[in-house]
Amino acid sequence: MATYRDEGVVLRTIRLGEADRIVTLATPEHGKVRAVAKGIRKTKSRLSGRLEPLTHVTMICWRGRELDVVNQVEAIEHFKAIRSDLERVSVAMTMLEVVDQVALERHPMPEMFRMLVGALRTLEERPSPALLGSFLWKLLVMEGVGPSLDQCAGCGSEGELVAFDAGEGGFLCRSCRRGQAVGAETVSLIRQVLSGGLRAALDQPASRAAAEAERLAMVATEYHLDRRVRSAHRGTEISTAGWQGWSNTSNPDTGEAPHAGAAPDAGAGLAPDAGTAADAGAGLAPDAGAAPDAGAEAEAKPGLPPLASW
Ligand SMILES: [Zn+2]
Repeated sequence: MATYRDEGVVLRTIRLGEADRIVTLATPEHGKVRAVAKGIRKTKSRLSGRLEPLTHVTMICWRGRELDVVNQVEAIEHFKAIRSDLERVSVAMTMLEVVDQVALERHPMPEMFRMLVGALRTLEERPSPALLGSFLWKLLVMEGVGPSLDQCAGCGSEGELVAFDAGEGGFLCRSCRRGQAVGAETVSLIRQVLSGGLRAALDQPASRAAAEAERLAMVATEYHLDRRVRSAHRGTEISTAGWQGWSNTSNPDTGEAPHAGAAPDAGAGLAPDAGTAADAGAGLAPDAGAAPDAGAEAEAKPGLPPLASW
């Protein structure tokens, strides 16, 4: 069976039978990957603790016809600060859910992957009120449905943009206005994010513009996906203790059923299992077997962009 090696961010997992899980990952070279992690729910599994949602990994998989099979996996980053903060968990879940919705299986997506890891790293190290909105606007641009910020989506005039209506194509001038009113600072902030000013935008303190930019980004994203982003509306339902990713259940919006034999896994928590994460068995990275201390993890990050350059 052919094998391949890639990086990945775990988007979600669902139980499969007694001991296995199906893990969905975003990868740069293979797009969205769905792979079986065999025996992962056994206490001695060398995979467990490395394939929790959110974890950034490097892995070797066997290619299967429908589902691949995880052969080896090594955690690069666990994003522990995100996991310990409900607000950050909520932002991360939303990003993972949206990437899961837009990513295509086996279609390389190096840009989107790099942006996801960059945004998660920013969320881990220096969260910003503009982070989620910036991520979503940039993702929409990547998807080819970014907003026009130089002219009205209705009449094409270059006057001030004062409203937003996703169904009308985006930002609208005073004469075309409908949908939601939008502040001038909000338009400026989104323009800044989409024209190379991400770092400066992320450095800004919380503001009405940042909140509005995020709200509109969510509206535009949901319009593009033609479905609700459930993670963004879950609020206090989120529990870090029980989180297994943004969705373990069937999807009521699309009617998509979980894989046969799969069921939500309520048993495992979010935090990686330190004992199994340090398991010497999986031997993928040079530091295999070493405890995932900060030094080893920093060295393991393979050539990813610095903070806030996503
Ligand atoms: Zn107009």
